[in-house]
Amino acid sequence: MQMQSSPAGDMLQGLHLELAQRAEQGLLRQRRMLQGMQGAHVVINGKRLLSFCSNDYLGLASHPALISAMSEAAQQYGAGSGASHLVTGHQTAHEVLEQRLQQFMAVPAVLLFSTGYMANLGIITALCGRDDEIFADKLNHASLNDAAVLSRASLKRYAHNDITSLERLLAQSSARRKLVVADAVFSMDGDIAPVPALLALCERYDAYLMLDDAHGFGVLGAKGRGILEHFNLSSPRIIYMATLGKAAGSAGAFVAAEQVVIDYLLQSARSYIYTTASPAPVAAAALAGVDIISSEPQRRQDLQQLITYLQQHCQLQRWQLLPSNTAIQPIIIGSNDEALRVSKHLQEHGILVAAIRPPTVPKGTARLRISLSAQHTEQDVAHLLNALHEIEVA
Ligand SMILES: *Cc1c(COP(=O)(O)O)cnc(C)c1O
Repeated sequence: MQMQSSPAGDMLQGLHLELAQRAEQGLLRQRRMLQGMQGAHVVINGKRLLSFCSNDYLGLASHPALISAMSEAAQQYGAGSGASHLVTGHQTAHEVLEQRLQQFMAVPAVLLFSTGYMANLGIITALCGRDDEIFADKLNHASLNDAAVLSRASLKRYAHNDITSLERLLAQSSARRKLVVADAVFSMDGDIAPVPALLALCERYDAYLMLDDAHGFGVLGAKGRGILEHFNLSSPRIIYMATLGKAAGSAGAFVAAEQVVIDYLLQSARSYIYTTASPAPVAAAALAGVDIISSEPQRRQDLQQLITYLQQHCQLQRWQLLPSNTAIQPIIIGSNDEALRVSKHLQEHGILVAAIRPPTVPKGTARLRISLSAQHTEQDVAHLLNALHEIEVA
């Protein structure tokens, strides 16, 4: 007997059903459309809103220097790269950016990727395979977990920032290669990984340490060199990845490591090899972003002052501000619906803060993810805190 299926087929029906279920659970995601530039203030539906919703921590995404670097590079190099890096897509602008990053980070070698997601996929799948073991913090970014699964290595997840839990796993391992992988600054909690302790364990157990510094590069360290400067660390065991679409104001990512690691990635990282090189103007804008990161420490100081201000002045009853010392300042609300409701109320007050829900964060920990930028003022933060207080007691 043949099963009856609807004219549109079972898959489409299944998708309808799943979307309806997500809507019911308050898990449906929606895009907001910005009518213009990224910044501390954005325009949505013709309305100007105070935004705490971007990773543009230093206010560089709309900086005139990046915009003109981008348009000048478009004149010089064209709009598209036309090929992958290993064919003819690698242009002078990419090379200059790699050299600048290598000098800035004071590392042996650097390789550019088109996005952080692709860098993580490329690095981890190139370095690890079936005989290897990856040790990942439970709160790592999705791209790191996806990369570990794609690599076919065995994936062991340790409790968040828990050195004892990690050491137990390392001690049990007899894998050919061991790679410890961690966000340097955790993207939904804003806390910092205990990198010196992670590195010490790697040395003890002959493991390597891959750090994803998407939220630290440009922000941490006196010169903005990120987590390595924050802890004053360098080691041939560290494989460092940072993105250029957050504090650096453009797009893309880079990996910094020993020369042999970079040489190997260039030959083997599939998300490097089998993709068109990102347009040269994007690299030129990132270069201008790195110049500002290194020459304008005031932006980091302004940001730090806002972080301190928010931590000192936030007084909530039911909701909990996490004790973060970075630009990411999460307020745990709990239920998905309430997080959405608060976010909606804030928007009615002219303030944009994203409600982050599972599966991006663990169940029952839906939160507001406030991200601060050097472009905000103390009055902006005070305005946000007043609105939050009003909504909480209402
Ligand atoms: C944003 C982010 C990425 C991805 O970087 P893109 O350049 O946006 O692809 C990777 N890891 C972490 C921790 C991130 O926050």
